[in-house]
Amino acid sequence: MEKIRMMTPLVEMDGDEMTRILWKMIKEELLLPFVDLKTEYYDLGLEKRDETNDQITIDAAEATKKYGVAVKCATITPNAARVEEYHLKEMWKSPNGTIRAILDGTVFRAPIIVKGIEPYVKTWKKPITLARHAYGDVYKASEMQIPGPGKVELVYTAEDGSKSAVTVHEFKGPGVVQGMHNLDASIESFARSCFTYALATKQDVWFATKDTISKKYDHHFKDIFQEIFEKEYKEQFDAADITYFYTLIDDAVARVVKSEGGFIWACKNYDGDVMSDLVATAFGSLAMMTSVLVSPHGYYEYEAAHGTVQRHYYQHLAGKETSTNPMATIFAWSGALRKRGELDQIPELMQFADCLEKASVKTIESGRMTKDLALITELTDVKVLNSAAFIQEIRKELEALMA
Ligand code: NAD
Repeated sequence: MEKIRMMTPLVEMDGDEMTRILWKMIKEELLLPFVDLKTEYYDLGLEKRDETNDQITIDAAEATKKYGVAVKCATITPNAARVEEYHLKEMWKSPNGTIRAILDGTVFRAPIIVKGIEPYVKTWKKPITLARHAYGDVYKASEMQIPGPGKVELVYTAEDGSKSAVTVHEFKGPGVVQGMHNLDASIESFARSCFTYALATKQDVWFATKDTISKKYDHHFKDIFQEIFEKEYKEQFDAADITYFYTLIDDAVARVVKSEGGFIWACKNYDGDVMSDLVATAFGSLAMMTSVLVSPHGYYEYEAAHGTVQRHYYQHLAGKETSTNPMATIFAWSGALRKRGELDQIPELMQFADCLEKASVKTIESGRMTKDLALITELTDVKVLNSAAFIQEIRKELEALMA
């Protein structure tokens, strides 16, 4: 069988621990036998980041700007324990944060749906894609404890020195205050990422805030979304037969639970933090969540939503077999290859991505799966496999589909 040719390289970002082991297996078993894989390789493993003073992360993000599509393995975000474990020069920042700051994007997370792993919400038939605004609000807030009676004000001092102020509260006793902010530029690029991704995936966009209570702050988000939609996207949405829908956050929650899924749910920063865990759990498993960073400039970076599965890695190092679920990492590759195929107009590459996903889903639906899924499946005839055996079963299905 002749291998599928690629034109433009994918930016390949390798990572850490158990997912780094899976990365290699996926390439060897599921990609290299079928595709003449072209990648520009960046090792974002913690040792390399330390060795290059994290320059490698910046280079990988810059390469994504150059080529447009990247695929990333999960990476360690160092904490004090990791600094000791890896003898790091510094507590390097989260690679995902660094990459996102350079590409200025929004992260979209969606579950992989398979028969036999049913969502807890019985009406959900299609994936719900969650988009979280990743800047500002309570995550960049300034806070103060108020010890006793007194007045708290918000004061804006313009560059020319003129001031305007509002009273937050006249305290009669102790309490707390918080001042938070957001930026038009960030809200605008969030809106554009959501509308761009909706067009790319032909899904409706739902957005919700609490604008009835927060008449300036949340209302501003609503206005920016509406204005950008009307000016830049409405015609394209009409042509693609998809819609933009705004409602209050409490109404959104009720509607989401009663929906069939199949839309993009755009959330403000805090709502997205909470709701993405809720959606992931309700769909069954973190190991089945895919994630893609979409920049308003049209760059795409695909990855799994989970981390490096540290516990399994230590078992692996101890010479034990692990049953780590590679699905989200496989789907990161298929997502990136499909997007590359679309941009370079290589239909065979897009078909290969479809086949890879079908083969993976079929393997699970036939009862062959990793341990995490075996624990939650409703299937009765189940064979629990280690990671390597599971990937080999997918390969058999893939070979059949490709033939
Ligand atoms: P984790 O996602 O690796 O694991 C969380 C839990 O889910 C664990 O119990 C794990 O066993 C289970 N799990 C996750 N993925 C699984 C899979 N594919 N198969 C089977 N079980 C799976 O998160 P963590 O333990 O909090 O973090 C480990 C490391 O990952 C940390 O160093 C953290 O910095 C990093 N991390 C990276 C990313 C990323 O690169 N996007 C995201 C989150 C965490």
